[in-house]
Amino acid sequence: MSATSRFLVEPAPGGLALVQELVNTRPVPPYGVRDLLGTVADARRWTTEAVGSWKVHSAATGGVGRVTSVELVGLRRLRRDLERHLLGEGVPRPVPTTLTAGPDDLLRLQPPGSGVRWLASAVWGEVLLAQRDGRWDRLKVCRNPLCPCAFFDRSRNNSRVWHDVRTCGNVANLRSSRARRRAATS
Ligand SMILES: [Zn+2]
Repeated sequence: MSATSRFLVEPAPGGLALVQELVNTRPVPPYGVRDLLGTVADARRWTTEAVGSWKVHSAATGGVGRVTSVELVGLRRLRRDLERHLLGEGVPRPVPTTLTAGPDDLLRLQPPGSGVRWLASAVWGEVLLAQRDGRWDRLKVCRNPLCPCAFFDRSRNNSRVWHDVRTCGNVANLRSSRARRRAATS
């Protein structure tokens, strides 16, 4: 099961799904969703699956390899940096990448090296492509402060704020209506 599918949301289009996947490895205790980067074993499982899917899409070669405890720290840092950038709160440090010809003779990104550096190059490369073609503005983090879910907004006017209006949206509406009632009776 992918990190994104745990939230019952659709994956973002193209390689941006890898970016969304990484953000969605976060735990959400109220929903019983655990951290997919919680242990080295968890991180190995997640990177194998997520990177495997991305490589099918991107035709890139190489990969993260076997995650160590040191790399687990790096993976979590990459996730945090990505979330900050998604929330408009930070920019990444310089990230090396290479361009090469794919099987269709079109250019593609090829992350250099291995380990977390390889994944960082893949992830930030996809962020760059999404920022250039307009998909980036539709990748959002749920407005519920307890829910870190990254979802891709396919609504016509790009107006969604909850990953699921029936869960996170309902909790927020309930809270604000209670607050209004309290204010009205005080
Ligand atoms: Zn949510």
